[in-house]
Amino acid sequence: PSKPAARKRKDETSLLGVRLTSPERVLFPEQGLTKLDLARLYEQIHEWVLPHLARRPLSLVRCPQGRNDECFFQKHPRSAIPDSVPRIDVPEKKGSAEYVYVESAADLIGLVQAGALEIHPWGSRIDHLEQPDNLVFDLDPDEGIAWQEVLRVAVTLRERLESLGLTPFLRTTGGKGLHLVVPIEPSAEWDRAKAFAKGVAEAHAKDDPQRLTTNMSKAKREGRIFIDYLRNGRGATAVASYTVRARQNAPVAVPIRWDELNAALRADRYNVQNLRRRLSALREDPWAGFSEAARPLDAKLLKAVGVK
Ligand code: ATP
Ligand code: MN
Ligand code: MN
Repeated sequence: PSKPAARKRKDETSLLGVRLTSPERVLFPEQGLTKLDLARLYEQIHEWVLPHLARRPLSLVRCPQGRNDECFFQKHPRSAIPDSVPRIDVPEKKGSAEYVYVESAADLIGLVQAGALEIHPWGSRIDHLEQPDNLVFDLDPDEGIAWQEVLRVAVTLRERLESLGLTPFLRTTGGKGLHLVVPIEPSAEWDRAKAFAKGVAEAHAKDDPQRLTTNMSKAKREGRIFIDYLRNGRGATAVASYTVRARQNAPVAVPIRWDELNAALRADRYNVQNLRRRLSALREDPWAGFSEAARPLDAKLLKAVGVK
């Protein structure tokens, strides 16, 4: 149960011990959703957010004045984030760079304080930074692609991954497409994980070249679904489950069960207004068994998709 925020000054409040300035600032004008509303949302749903998000380096989409004003994608937000939010130095080609990560509900509030309207984690945790523990197959339909097509590709890609002994889980992005998220044991390093994802994506596209591409060029994506395997490189990110998008209607990226994938679903089906209802109606975590389903990307699997 959430405690009422202790009022300090009119233009400042605090939530879970984190100072929130301009709590009444409207971040999503169409919904009238304020900074305090967003902070309270994360306070309420943190038990859904944190298991998948905690202890991963983060990139943020910050829109300090709200989503209709200037927004920027930041890997190293530095001073904008409250000191209470933990940091880690990540080795880079030259030296290292500081990333923020979260461990608690208060840390999520800290991100909101900095105007973070989107949260994008790495596929690895700080405990084993060089070995991702999940892969993301990001289905990006071109304009005009029917939902039925996206749905069908999600299903066939699931079959391919399952035939390799892997277990993909499904997520709406809040945007246009879907993510298939595959838990793996954090043993293979980034280069091999990315090569594996590329191998799977290319094999899939080869079976249906009219509909699919793994080429990110605009021309090749025209009239097709781009299977974006590039989310799986070191430093690459994908939006976190149960977090908001800085898009129209304040959509949320939401894990769903495979049996919820149907013609009526849409990538932006869930948003800040209907998310709580969904969560309270759930009888079970739609991603139950996620961690247990992790398999190692071993030599046999890599060979199966043509990676030496
Ligand atoms: P959709 O379903 O609409 O495709 P999505 O979240 O999958 O939603 P994409 O455009 O496919 O959106 O993926 C972009 C991903 O790339 C983001 O999730 C983010 O993690 C990452 N990214 C890297 N650089 C940027 C940037 N400058 N702006 C936005 N996202 C970026
Ligand atoms: Mn996408
Ligand atoms: Mn993409």
